[in-house]
Amino acid sequence: MFDAKNMNDGHLVLNRRRFLGVAAALIASGALPKSALALAGPHRFTHGAFDLTVLSDGQLVLPLSIVSAQATTGDLKTLMGAAIQPGDMFTSEINVVLARSGSDLILFDTGAAGAFGPTAGQLFESLKTAGVDPADITKVIFTHAHPDHILGAIGADGKPTFANASFHLAENEFNFWSPADLASQVPAQMKDMTLGIQAALKVLGDRLVTFKAGAEVLPGIGVIETPGHTPGHVAFELAGGDGLILAGDSIALESVFFKNPDWAFGFDYDGTLAGKSRRALLDQAATGKKQMLGYHWTYPGLGRAEAKDGAFVYVPANI
Ligand SMILES: [Zn+2]
Repeated sequence: MFDAKNMNDGHLVLNRRRFLGVAAALIASGALPKSALALAGPHRFTHGAFDLTVLSDGQLVLPLSIVSAQATTGDLKTLMGAAIQPGDMFTSEINVVLARSGSDLILFDTGAAGAFGPTAGQLFESLKTAGVDPADITKVIFTHAHPDHILGAIGADGKPTFANASFHLAENEFNFWSPADLASQVPAQMKDMTLGIQAALKVLGDRLVTFKAGAEVLPGIGVIETPGHTPGHVAFELAGGDGLILAGDSIALESVFFKNPDWAFGFDYDGTLAGKSRRALLDQAATGKKQMLGYHWTYPGLGRAEAKDGAFVYVPANI
């Protein structure tokens, strides 16, 4: 998520400075309830051979207008309920998954660091609460390269925050962000984000390893191609039981997109393609009775999909 164009809706242009300013004002005035700012978790559970912990990086506070151009404000108020905040803003979680598997300690995405204001960037607090030393992380696996997923990997000193980890990104995603002149090719509102992503990938340098869909990233961690939110976005499926899908941003908000999988999310690079990937992933999850976990879903973001009336219902895990 970040400044992005919406291919279905050419008029959507975001000014990041403006919405960060609104979020800060809401916090300062006390309009944003304290409960919206409390750091949740950690939530621990097991799946197959994996010991999993959902770590909160805090929350994003964003304008309601970015959710979907296909939705009216009335639709969103009905669907999103308590997530809606004063000033036509909404909050969404940032759920980072930590997985212990054999001798590996794996992090799926790394939070937003300072890019989204004071409500986010709290992964290291959560790691501390969970008793995990960042130096013990052996692998960091990314769903995609948006700032709220990769910037936690870069410290204020400009060095990787996980000193002993290798970093894993889908080859298609790496290739999309790599051209040196990309910032001059993308729409103006994506330029700063593009430069930021390129700088972050440069810091990770030769510790960055690319992987392809079809192969496992690590034993028991399969890759599901879900292009559209970004060109190389992937979800992961952890082996065990009927499977656990880490959906990343392929289904950005469970409250909105299970019922409306074909709507474009405002931060989707290609909303039509993202809708196809979203529907296919939900179909796969519902048919296979798989568990799902979403990066921006209501903490801890764990549930499953049931098919209903040509769309899907989100059934949160009973925890
Ligand atoms: Zn995101």
